[in-house]
Amino acid sequence: MAIIIVGAGIAGLSLAVGLQRAGVPVTVVEEREHLDGGAGITLWPNALAALDDLGLGAQVRRTGRQVSAGTVATPRGRRIRELDEADLAAALGEPVIAIHRQTLMDLLVAHLRPGTIRWSAPVAGVHVAGGRTLVELADGTELAASAVVGADGIRSAIARTLNPGLAMAHSGFTAWRGVAAVELDGGGQVWGNGAEFGWVPLAQGQTYWFAARRAPEGQDLGPAAELARLHHDFGHWDGPAADLIAATAPDGLARHDLPDRPLAKRWHAGSVVLIGDAAHPMRPNLGQGGCQGVEDAAVLSRLLVGAADPTAACAEFTRLRRRRVVGVARQSWFLGTMIGLRPHAAASALFRASSWLPQRLLLGQIATVASADAYQKARR
Ligand SMILES: Cc1cc2nc3c(=O)[nH]c(=O)nc-3n(C[C@H](O)[C@H](O)[C@H](O)COP(=O)(O)OP(=O)(O)OC[C@H]3O[C@@H](n4cnc5c(N)ncnc54)[C@H](O)[C@@H]3O)c2cc1C
Repeated sequence: MAIIIVGAGIAGLSLAVGLQRAGVPVTVVEEREHLDGGAGITLWPNALAALDDLGLGAQVRRTGRQVSAGTVATPRGRRIRELDEADLAAALGEPVIAIHRQTLMDLLVAHLRPGTIRWSAPVAGVHVAGGRTLVELADGTELAASAVVGADGIRSAIARTLNPGLAMAHSGFTAWRGVAAVELDGGGQVWGNGAEFGWVPLAQGQTYWFAARRAPEGQDLGPAAELARLHHDFGHWDGPAADLIAATAPDGLARHDLPDRPLAKRWHAGSVVLIGDAAHPMRPNLGQGGCQGVEDAAVLSRLLVGAADPTAACAEFTRLRRRRVVGVARQSWFLGTMIGLRPHAAASALFRASSWLPQRLLLGQIATVASADAYQKARR
């Protein structure tokens, strides 16, 4: 019987690659008809080390682009922080990689045997009947599995099955992401009045950018008008925001009202287990949501391969991963809250205070989350 992974996102596909590579039968069940792009993603050395364990690290490093260190500044150009590329790489074990999301997802799919992913198959839930674990598709079909992995993202049906009443609310922030055909040397971020704008060069002369600011839910004007509004809000900021927004095609803009959902209380029940955003959604501010999903995939893959009892593997996964992820989610929340703090004078005071933090301490702090070493210590 196969292991069934619900959701073909970064976490689910990474796990599928790890399991299939070790000869474990696996099926991925995905509600979408196909992969549909996205903008860019930064993969920190903790995720690169996990990708090494999955046999994918070298290819991802080759395909992506090393991120040269960035600045953090205010909209008027006052430097809050400047991180040196060599110092950052030394603290983390190696440079950070930025890659187009579509490229990353294509690379993951290319490592799976044809037919591994069952597309257009929304899952309604999972239950145990007659000693068998059954995944229920929305069309009524039931699929028996030796273990079920809920990798179905922040709106996870599997997480809600394990945690009835799991609440979700608007965080108060909306995020936009795009990729522009603009070549830049380095990345950077600007933190402003309850808002931020960041950019990271990708391979092939492209730059990934993201913006976030306080906004009520459900105010989507459509891509062209959203780009015009972004240009109005961020175009006068220090840095390349104006050029990047102007060089982004409307059909390349992704806009999301960012939800807040707590970590799931129960990550596993029997041989059903949650990974990625389904288990531990987090604010995007540390750029760690996807990285932690890749760490989950590498750890769960190792535990499930050759496990006589998937239930014990799922319990051990929860024990190992919870203690690692809780702190990372908390730090993401803290950074997002600091940037969005009101009144803005309070945020400015915090930015100023953070600019006095000695670089050595800051790098040490980043390394506890994003270094290869942090992953390696936590996987044991
Ligand atoms: C603005 C922004 C910037 C970010 N930047 C970074 C970054 O630089 N680095 C980083 O590491 N992270 C980043 N993140 C976080 C990262 O995008 C997420 O943490 C990551 O994509 C989660 O991956 P996942 O596989 O767990 O879930 P998802 O990517 O959400 O995948 C879940 C999959 O499950 C499918 N699915 C859902 N429900 C069902 C169902 N019922 N049946 C079948 N299939 C289903 C979905 O269609 C989807 O394909 C960012 C997030 C945002 C919002």
